Amino acid sequence: MFLSVFDMFKIGIGPSSSHTMGPMVAAARFLDRMRASPFQFHGLRGTLHGSLAFTGIGHATDRATILGLAGFSPETYEADAAEATLEGIRSTGMITPPDLPPLVFNPKQDLLFDYGPALAGHANGMVLMATDAQGDVTLSETYYSIGGGFVLTEAELAEGKATDDDGTPIPYPFKSADEMLAMCKTSGKTIAQMKRDNEVARGGPENLKSGTARLWQVMNDCIERGLHTDGELPGGLMVKRRAKGIYDALLAERGMNQSAPHTINDWMSTYAMAVNEENAAGGQVVTAPTNGAAGVMPAVIRYWLDHVPSASEDRVEDFLLTAAAIGGLVKFNASISGAEAGCQAEVGSAAAMAAAGLCAVMGGTPEQVENAAEIALEHHLGMTCDPVKGLVQVPCIERNGLGAIKAVSAASLALRGDGTHLVPLDACIETMRQTGLDMSEKYKETSLGGLAVNVPNC
Ligand code: SF4
Repeated sequence: MFLSVFDMFKIGIGPSSSHTMGPMVAAARFLDRMRASPFQFHGLRGTLHGSLAFTGIGHATDRATILGLAGFSPETYEADAAEATLEGIRSTGMITPPDLPPLVFNPKQDLLFDYGPALAGHANGMVLMATDAQGDVTLSETYYSIGGGFVLTEAELAEGKATDDDGTPIPYPFKSADEMLAMCKTSGKTIAQMKRDNEVARGGPENLKSGTARLWQVMNDCIERGLHTDGELPGGLMVKRRAKGIYDALLAERGMNQSAPHTINDWMSTYAMAVNEENAAGGQVVTAPTNGAAGVMPAVIRYWLDHVPSASEDRVEDFLLTAAAIGGLVKFNASISGAEAGCQAEVGSAAAMAAAGLCAVMGGTPEQVENAAEIALEHHLGMTCDPVKGLVQVPCIERNGLGAIKAVSAASLALRGDGTHLVPLDACIETMRQTGLDMSEKYKETSLGGLAVNVPNC
């Protein structure tokens, strides 16, 4: 199994990796198929299924799909150009993808939310179709957005493909935490060192260095934008941004030496909330491992850099590599998708990754790192996904703050032990997978249960 650090942490746009980035990526893939086809096309159509339909409006899935069909991508997205393009499509009923002729596409009738049963392959399904001059479908593809911005076709899902892994051999192909620890022991290397060797085998050392530096830059820029932006978030819930107010208050208290010890939790929360408020506003974020859970990792890294005296930015790469190794195990053996296994798979996975990263850069042994990840994940088991109004705001924004606090506590507890512990990480991941299977669909990003139906006036 190989899942690159750049698959786990992808630069993209909010508010959702599965419901915004994934559909945009699927649309781009469909355009490639159209370009490779010998047929002439006249129009485009699409249908959104399962969770993509139920929470698609709140997650801007329709908008992302249309922009993807117009040639936009999550990495290069520009908000102003996107608005102008959408306006043009709405007013003309035509869409002009790059390197394809103008196509008939009326968003209101050509992109439908299907509230019937989900498609068989995954809770997040979508079908894209190209039509001829008579309106008959001449090309069609089913895509599944499986979480974290990953997209598979029906055929890829059926063959069990989980990543873009091209099969090039890597030196440390661990598929479980058990195998990972055994390889650490025989090689004498840390988890980050093994992961680095794997990444270099695929992409070379320079690519890794510049790529991880860019990831941290985008994560930290996102924190900074969130800490300096006020106002109300879009979507109609009238949720006010809070990160800036808390940050300003923390700075003032620190200036007056009035900070109580527990305010360190507020620092972590405000860093995480800054990211998730930016995500909710459709800003640029890094999936970690998803958009909904994008605040946990940056918050813990920033906490470490700003509040732990021994921290150094030189080791952020080790933090990211260790976290990516753990995230890969969770994705490969269970899920990082809220639509598949609830929020335990999103914020729970993010907390496990962040706890592992922090433990590693604070000098933890591989066994302590595995313990840190396990503690963080164990105490998110069973957590449901029930976003109010289908928006990635409530409970998601605060939840990232709490996820960061749990991650730091988990790393700290693990560092106080010797790495021996009762519940192996592999058992915890398997428990998460089984719990996800048992979980009612109401709690898997459909907004049909939990807070989504009990919060008044929604
Ligand atoms: S509740 Fe959790 S899984 Fe669901 S959208 Fe929010 S962050 Fe994602």
